[in-house]
Amino acid sequence: MTQKIIIAGSGFAGLWAALAAARAVSLAGKDGEVEVIVVSPTPNVTIRPRLYEAALVNMRPDIAPLLDAVGVRHIAGRVEAIDAKSRQITVTTANGARETLAYDRFILAAGSQTFRPPVPGLADYGFETDQLASAQKLHTHLKALAGLPETEARNTVVIAGGGLTGLETATEMPGRLRASLGPDATLRVIIVDNAEPVGASLGAEALPFIEEALAEDGVETRPGARVASIDADGVTLSSGERIATNTVVWTAGMRASPLAAQLPGEHDQLGRVVGDAYLRAPEAEGIFVTGDTVKVATDDQGNFNVMSCQHAMSLGRVAGYNAAAELVGLPLHPYSQPKYVTCLDLGPWGALYTEGWDRQVRFTRADGKKIKQDINTVWIYPPKPDRDTVFAIANPDYVIVP
Ligand SMILES: Cc1cc2nc3c(=O)[nH]c(=O)nc-3n(C[C@H](O)[C@H](O)[C@H](O)COP(=O)(O)OP(=O)(O)OC[C@H]3O[C@@H](n4cnc5c(N)ncnc54)[C@H](O)[C@@H]3O)c2cc1C
Repeated sequence: MTQKIIIAGSGFAGLWAALAAARAVSLAGKDGEVEVIVVSPTPNVTIRPRLYEAALVNMRPDIAPLLDAVGVRHIAGRVEAIDAKSRQITVTTANGARETLAYDRFILAAGSQTFRPPVPGLADYGFETDQLASAQKLHTHLKALAGLPETEARNTVVIAGGGLTGLETATEMPGRLRASLGPDATLRVIIVDNAEPVGASLGAEALPFIEEALAEDGVETRPGARVASIDADGVTLSSGERIATNTVVWTAGMRASPLAAQLPGEHDQLGRVVGDAYLRAPEAEGIFVTGDTVKVATDDQGNFNVMSCQHAMSLGRVAGYNAAAELVGLPLHPYSQPKYVTCLDLGPWGALYTEGWDRQVRFTRADGKKIKQDINTVWIYPPKPDRDTVFAIANPDYVIVP
């Protein structure tokens, strides 16, 4: 009987898990003996790392032809429940039906979402750049500001969170506001973050470049503070300061898909399952965890994966390969990804490219921006739907870094 690998999610990890699983089955000469199935709302990859950009173009490439090219089936739906004991999942399909599907191996690749703490007003007034729909909502809102009377609140954007996403969203924002409100409007973009100074978490070597970029791009900061409450006309900070604004963008933290909580075993503070070296959920036989739903060591130096495409694509390849390898009798491949880079877009200033967990600065300004553009327009996009090309790069030790 045909065995089944079911993958929940068609993001960076889910896509590469599917391609790597199909490759491993083929490598073992077992084509037709193992079916690889991806369950996700639609056969698209959302290019989440670009959702801070002004032009939301080509942000959800269609992967149906790619899955077809390697014989992977797509089911349009959402996984609702995972029953590790009976090896079944419950899916609500796109037409609203509930179906139970049995698997031999299951790969959780359902990603992550913005963490929304119970800050008063956040649910009603907060914007996000986390998913395409929320990024489009922000885009529409920024355009609509032009139709409001000129006030300080209209002309001010507050970014809650000064991590990578917050910095990228903030440094792009003056240009977006200018495009909406005209070149002569008096604009303010303010990052509010606990860190002192904002950007400190990116390391001592990166910090001066970040501060230079924020100053040049016209972005203010409120270090050592949190957004305590939000209403229609502004925010109140933990320091007591009131900032008039009609636009608050929440970028302060991510959490793993709630599906991860259905799996037994240890979870970290981000809700990720602590996986073994082969990306198995140690207490759920037959289940692999990957992408933003797993926490695992990247090397033997004490470093762990972060929620990023860089890690998700490699984690996907390893989980997909190993899930198939267990079924077709290939040796398992331990996950390892010792090289870590960061490429932080800092708006008109350029981009900051660093290497290593201590973020040693390698390229800045236009040189960094060139790398960021390559990452954002080439490296993270799905490959062409050609089986041989895909199988050449869907192996578990392929790593995309410059
Ligand atoms: C604004 C922003 C900027 C970022 N910048 C960077 C960056 O510069 N560099 C970087 O490396 N990373 C960046 N990231 C992080 C990166 O996007 C994520 O780490 C990455 O998308 C994780 O990949 P994933 O496949 O694990 O999850 P996702 O890409 O989130 O994919 C999850 C998939 O699961 C599906 N899904 C969800 N729930 C279910 C369900 N119940 N059933 C079935 N399917 C489900 C989704 O539809 C999707 O297909 C950024 C993220 C954001 C939001």
